Amino acid sequence: MKSRITVVVLGHVDHGKSTLVGRFLFEKGLVHPEEIERYAQLGAQMGKASFKYAWVMDRSDESRRRGLTLDLNFADLETRNREVHIIDAPGHRDFLRSMITGTTAADAALMVVDAQEGIMPQTREHAQLAKLMGVERVVVALNKIDKVGYEPAAIAKAAADLKGLLDGLGFKRSDIIPVSAWEGQNITSRGERMSWYKGRTLEEVIDGLEPRGGPKGGSFRMPVMQVLQIGGVGTVILGRIERGEVSEGDELLVVPAGKVGAVRSIEAYGKTIHKAEAGETVGIALRNIVRQDVSRGDVLGPESDMPRLAEELTAKMVLIGDAGVVKPGWSAYLHCHTAAVPVKLEAIEMKFRPESGEAAGEAETGFLVNGDAALVRLKPLKPLVIETADGLPAMARFALRVGRETIGAGSCVSVRPVEMKEGAVAESKGFSYKWQKVGKGAKDQKKRKEDESRDIWGKPVKKE
Ligand code: GDP
Repeated sequence: MKSRITVVVLGHVDHGKSTLVGRFLFEKGLVHPEEIERYAQLGAQMGKASFKYAWVMDRSDESRRRGLTLDLNFADLETRNREVHIIDAPGHRDFLRSMITGTTAADAALMVVDAQEGIMPQTREHAQLAKLMGVERVVVALNKIDKVGYEPAAIAKAAADLKGLLDGLGFKRSDIIPVSAWEGQNITSRGERMSWYKGRTLEEVIDGLEPRGGPKGGSFRMPVMQVLQIGGVGTVILGRIERGEVSEGDELLVVPAGKVGAVRSIEAYGKTIHKAEAGETVGIALRNIVRQDVSRGDVLGPESDMPRLAEELTAKMVLIGDAGVVKPGWSAYLHCHTAAVPVKLEAIEMKFRPESGEAAGEAETGFLVNGDAALVRLKPLKPLVIETADGLPAMARFALRVGRETIGAGSCVSVRPVEMKEGAVAESKGFSYKWQKVGKGAKDQKKRKEDESRDIWGKPVKKE
């Protein structure tokens, strides 16, 4: 069986992302030449004949009129060893949220760069974000080489700059392939206009990409995507397993409700299965759990190593949208796995250079503006389970949104878990969650010691 991989297309506006994907589909025989011809004619009438390939991907009229990619566009194609799911990441920022919250977890990024223009602001921004979101592998299509006359010297300069950028960001591996999306060079067949090029075609490189795979080992974690009440079966929780495995009969804790239910049955793709593991999207029927106990954004895990609610988290983040001047006290919605929770910025600990991750020296840490990267402390204002990037990256990445705009992205570095008093109330009715803080008085300190040996529902915990 061919393994399936997801590739997200990134790059500065107009560098040829849609054209490249359109051309790729065309060469794979997935788009009829007549369709391309129709787009060419339509384009000619609108003075946009050069978008004939791009329109294969940009299906909305608005996109066509403006010559911009507005929505998330998907395409599927097959190479020798892979089923490839391509996401054309639009100029629109919302693809970020989808990527971050895992709906489109990409195995690799295909970065399209205009060979003549080289690295532009969005090239850099997208590369940083891909890194932050845990993408390890980048394939660069150094595009429009017809514009630089297929000159090896011109291409070498652009390639060296890109290699510098990607190595600096710490990508494990990056391939740079000179292509012309417009003339169809080096996409599915070797470019006859550049016999000097001895490397692989874009298709060959994509064929060699490996699926990212789930984390090995570690306790079960499944963020709740949806909760269903099914007659005869009971409460069924849908989600993607981010770590570990689950079998029929296992006991799972619902956080933040704090209730334990035994797995009655597991379903995947319409079939009943007895066991499921990381990477699978499943429905789990839990005994003793009623619909009101679970909401989207909650997390299931074993009681012995339960998902922890964050009292506060430390995170690396980058501001990517116009949020004005961001200071402590500022708040936004944090979107992480399936959760969306308001958070407050408590402190800016340190600024760092997004390209290298190095501390930005004596940079002013009183505020952040667009483009700034910083280590920050955030306080969730509602219950939130978040993991650390070291432990479980898929549940550590987040997007920050204000209104409908994604204005930041980040990754959680450490978590200070919520401490609760014995017997405190945990309710997850629509996230109206109550927890009592442990005070600072002597009596409370003593109590706190006792509390430390107990979990947030007052049950004794095992020492690590
Ligand atoms: P996107 O914004 O990155 O998706 O870019 P588009 O695919 O919409 O392309 C922007 C413009 O660049 C269009 O006019 C394309 O025809 C043009 N273009 C794309 N690839 C090439 C190429 O390889 N060579 C040349 N000369 N033009 C290209």
